[in-house]
This record gives sequence, C-alpha cells and structure tokens, in this order.
Amino acid sequence: TPLFVIENLRAGIEGKEILRGVNLVIERGEIHALMGPNGSGKSTLAYVIAGHPNYEVYEGRILYKGENVLELPPDERARMGMFLAFQYPTAIPGVTMANFLRLAVNSVRKARLGEDKALSPREFRRLLREKLEMLRMDESFASRYLNEGFSGGEKKRAEILQMAMLEPEFAVLDETDSGLDIDALRTVSEGVNRLFNPNMALLVITHYQRILNYIRPHYVHVMLDGKIAVSGGPELAEELEEKGYDWVKEQFAEAA
Ligand code: ADP
Ligand code: MG
Ligand code: MG
Repeated sequence: TPLFVIENLRAGIEGKEILRGVNLVIERGEIHALMGPNGSGKSTLAYVIAGHPNYEVYEGRILYKGENVLELPPDERARMGMFLAFQYPTAIPGVTMANFLRLAVNSVRKARLGEDKALSPREFRRLLREKLEMLRMDESFASRYLNEGFSGGEKKRAEILQMAMLEPEFAVLDETDSGLDIDALRTVSEGVNRLFNPNMALLVITHYQRILNYIRPHYVHVMLDGKIAVSGGPELAEELEEKGYDWVKEQFAEAA
C-alpha cells in the first residue's frame, strides 16, 4: 500500500465546500509539490490533513499506512508519524523550545516504539544537539521560549527543527517559503533536504516556484478551485513560473 492516499476528498468550512474531490497518491521516497493560485484550497487541504477542528469533511478518505486518519484526532496522527506543522501551539508562555520538543518527541516515541522508549534528559539533549548540528542551527535556539518574538524565518526554522526531532514518515509543509529572504530560504531548504530520506515522503505546498529550486519535487500538482487540475514532473513548476496559472485555468475550463 502507498504511504499516503487521498480519495475523492470533499471538505470545507461552515457548510461552504472548498475541496471538491481531491485525489492524490504519495509513496515513500517521494517529494510532491502542491501549487496553485491564491484561494484555490491548498491550505484547506493542509488543515484537513492535520485534522483542524474548524474544517468539515463531507466525503472521501485520507489513508495513511492504509488507515483512514479522518477518524483520528490530530495528536494520534502525529503519533503515527505524520508531521503537520499547524498542530503545534503558536505560543505557550514560559515553555522553551527544548521543553516542548522533549514532550512531543517522547509522546511520539512511546506511541511508536513502546512506553519504555521515552528519552532520558541526557539522551534527549544529545539528540537535540545532533539535529541542531545537522540543520546548522545554534544551540541557543533551543533555549528560546516557544515562538515568543520569533521572526518569520525563525518560525520556519523552528518548524524544521521540530520535524527533524520527530523524524516523521510523512510531512506537510505549507508555504514554508513565505516571508523568507533568499538566505533563510536556502538554510531552511537545505535543512529539509538533509532530513529527507527514502523511508519518508513530503508534501510541499507553495504558491511560488522559488522554494522548488532548493527542494526538488518528483511530482508537481496544480490545485484549481478545490481540485487537482494538472499533475506532472518538476518541469511543470518551471512552466508555471514562466507562464503563470492562466493557461492551466483555460485548459482546465475546456476539459471540464
Ligand atoms: P490557498 O491556501 O490555496 O490560498 P485556502 O485554502 O486558504 O487557499 O482558501 C480556499 C478558499 O477557502 C478561499 O476561497 C478562502 O476564502 C476560503 N476560506 C479559507 N479559510 C476560510 C475560513 N476560515 N472561513 C471561510 N472561508 C475560508
Ligand atoms: Mg492563501
Ligand atoms: Mg494557503
């Protein structure tokens, strides 16, 4: 079975249908990019995958390792090895990144490996140091209070550090490039590339092609009006960068 499958997903918010029949199959070892104009439903898809309580699912399934995760709460999805950036709190007063990460890592480890597999404080610090080094991040970063006074770039780096620590098998990154200057974009992307491995898969959501120069996708999908209108290889992203989204809209209108 594929690692991650979306079948005829229809979902929305407050009775308003936004996703109108999404289908997607992602195998281990693959990086997929989801592109599309503003308002096409990309973030809605990310929220529904994450299990955000504001969103309603009208039809369809999301299978992770063959199990329909739409029936599971967000924390259960995380414990199964899915990484969804938004399920993390935006700011918790008085909690450092290291403390937060220790709780998150141990919760996932206990669920995936067994109750006795929580890391001791010393083991945790070693793992944290290893990941910080891999991501070329300063050790002081982990002592910062969670998201307190974080710049856009720091929030994105914190997200990548969380991802590195949790060692997920499937991760969704929504607009990881937004608000990053070119140096921060390169640092964050290199971090993602370093932690990617053939046992996992990645869904990178982006309006602009720019981040895909650094994180090279195997497949590119274009979402239009709540549906995946076109899928292709990496060259599709370049074509979109050159020609914009209008030609997809025209072709899709003809086909519909
Ligand atoms: P994208 O990420 O592709 O820009 P979104 O998923 O954010 O698209 O938005 C898709 C559509 O859903 C848009 O028409 C948007 O206005 C609508 N939408 C998104 N969030 C909400 C919300 N909280 N309440 C009502 N409509 C929403
Ligand atoms: Mg948007
Ligand atoms: Mg969005």
